[in-house]
Amino acid sequence: MYDTIVGSMTIPITIDGKTEELSVGQANNLSTHGNPEIRKEVFDRLEEAWSEKEELFAKTLNHLAGFRLHVYEKRGWDDFLKEPLEYNRMQKSTLQAMWNAISKHKKPFVDYLNKKAHLLGKDKLDWYDLNAPLSNDDETLSFQEGAQFILKHFHSFSPKMAQFAEKAFEEAWIEAEDRPGKRPGGFCTSFPLSGQSRIFMTYNGSMSNVATLAHELGHAFHSYTLQSMHPLNRNYAMNVAETASTFAESIVSDASVNEAKTAEQRKSLLEAKLQRSVAMFMNIHARFLFESRFYEERKQGIVPASRLNELMVEAQREAYAGAINEVHPRFWASKLHFYITDVPFYNFPYTFGYLFSLSIYAKAREEGASYEEKYMALLRDTAIMPVEELVMKHLGEDITEESFWEKGIQLCIKDVEAFIELAN
Ligand SMILES: [Zn+2]
Repeated sequence: MYDTIVGSMTIPITIDGKTEELSVGQANNLSTHGNPEIRKEVFDRLEEAWSEKEELFAKTLNHLAGFRLHVYEKRGWDDFLKEPLEYNRMQKSTLQAMWNAISKHKKPFVDYLNKKAHLLGKDKLDWYDLNAPLSNDDETLSFQEGAQFILKHFHSFSPKMAQFAEKAFEEAWIEAEDRPGKRPGGFCTSFPLSGQSRIFMTYNGSMSNVATLAHELGHAFHSYTLQSMHPLNRNYAMNVAETASTFAESIVSDASVNEAKTAEQRKSLLEAKLQRSVAMFMNIHARFLFESRFYEERKQGIVPASRLNELMVEAQREAYAGAINEVHPRFWASKLHFYITDVPFYNFPYTFGYLFSLSIYAKAREEGASYEEKYMALLRDTAIMPVEELVMKHLGEDITEESFWEKGIQLCIKDVEAFIELAN
């Protein structure tokens, strides 16, 4: 339903007096445009388009949630989080500790958003400013240079990971050509019999694009480490699926900040990292709050589109701690993740994976290359253990405690401090 409706939508966008009918994906890509008027125009036209179809989206969501709640009732389950938590092999106390820690540390991220607003000449950010670029002095690397950059920095963390990535480059496992007609985004897929992986992406040479390539190589490395496990023990859940990829991405994005040639570049690279933290601690948090409240109200009957808009606005105000002036009421209609039929709550595993891999990254930085073996042992266990046991065994930490999550958040707060200092 979602794909059919979205696929048929066209968004009329007027730039320089010329109106073009864009697909939703094309319109979304303009959210990073440097011109604030274009960003606002795109946001308004998109919001209008979602609003025209909101009854269809509301009906789809209500049926999906209603079906699940009915199945849960028949099974005698009274908690709608039971299924997503079991799927991710995690306890509710872990989820609560994570959100509690995040809720307690919103202030630095509000400071970052306010600083960004200030740099854009505003008092407060609007939704369509969140992805606005702050500079046009970004460095680009050729594919060859990007590959060298990745290999060099992988090597300082794990020679085996660097060796593995080199093999992927040399044996042409990566389809990264920048040409028309490719779908957006990147992914990695693995072949258990040949023990190989393939990566798809469109390489444009920006530093964040190099980090994406590192991210996909991280996924490939995860599959590589799992090869020694029994095939039935290689199926990891979503919250740990992004561990190796985020780890690899952090190595490259940190190195790019450290090696930036100008203060402008450094600021913009730090900002790219901060946008990610805001996405994890605020945007995903809003999705979780919305979905929880929606399921609660759905127990009483159909929740109309107008009420879904209200729930989304409340969730965004709370999750962004009031830092956003104009929010995005029809985000629930626009975001594909709410419509995935196999798993509900396709949101908190992202934040879990982000903070989890940051803690591993912090440990790896402390220990240097000797951490390699421990890191690979952890990856091998990702598909056979509940996450509480996995982290206790490999990091010696209790993730049902808020203090574990706070350590990862503190690393992101350091980025905020560095960004504000540079901006000042
Ligand atoms: Zn990924």
